[in-house]
Amino acid sequence: MKKESEMLASRELKKENTVIELDGARIGGKDIVVMAGPCAVESEEQIIETAKAVKNAGAKILRGGVFKPRTSPYSFQGLGKEGLEHLKKAKEETGLAVVTEVMDPKTVELVSKYCDILQIGSRNMHNFSLLKEASRANKPILLKRGMSATLNELINSAEHILSEGNSQVILCERGIRTFENYTRNTLDLSAVPALKELTHLPIIVDPSHGTGRASLVSSMSKAAIAAGADGLIVEVHPQPEQALSDGQQSLNAEEFELLIKDIKKIAESVGRAF
Ligand code: PEP
Ligand code: MN
Repeated sequence: MKKESEMLASRELKKENTVIELDGARIGGKDIVVMAGPCAVESEEQIIETAKAVKNAGAKILRGGVFKPRTSPYSFQGLGKEGLEHLKKAKEETGLAVVTEVMDPKTVELVSKYCDILQIGSRNMHNFSLLKEASRANKPILLKRGMSATLNELINSAEHILSEGNSQVILCERGIRTFENYTRNTLDLSAVPALKELTHLPIIVDPSHGTGRASLVSSMSKAAIAAGADGLIVEVHPQPEQALSDGQQSLNAEEFELLIKDIKKIAESVGRAF
């Protein structure tokens, strides 16, 4: 058993920020890095169109789920391997790095062939065998906070990855369950400065799942950057009203462009670059 101060994720053990370098992006350094794209990859055209739009606006990383953790088994579950091929095409067309969720230890190898960052979703933050397997792929890992997880539990899940030998973990605050139900989740922005005290790992914020409402995404994105987040992951869809998942919280390309303009101003005012 290690003391908290001896944990690999601990700020006490390592004072300087961990910076994760990808083609075209440094996460955890001075730059604010924005990941954007649809909740789910729906077709080659949809992901390429979105990739071009978000790149144009200033995103550095393309998101898009192909294995979707849906509450109902009757909802769209994602395109699976076909979706990975579409992501690959979008990367070839735009040069954007790609982040996508892996849900099952059995598909870690496959997914990691197609992506630059492996996403572990909120529902799997406590899935230690998945964390272990993902760690071994030796790719940066975006670890989302469980919807009922404490910060200590989030850091311990990161520790499962770090202790397997992979030091490239990005933490993500994506909202937690509270009694409030106007928003989908309660975005815990105090997690950002708290995690900065506790750990040297980069931290980004997901205002889309954090609120569940497109109208709130811009305000919470600005607040997240002001609070010290290293970046954002935002859902963007060419036609949110027709999205197969999470359309109600997705921005269209125009709204995303405006969001980035605002983020640039906030970034500058808190001494960050964009
Ligand atoms: C997602 O980012 O696509 C997602 C399902 O988010 P979360 O795991 O935070 O619910
Ligand atoms: Mn989603």
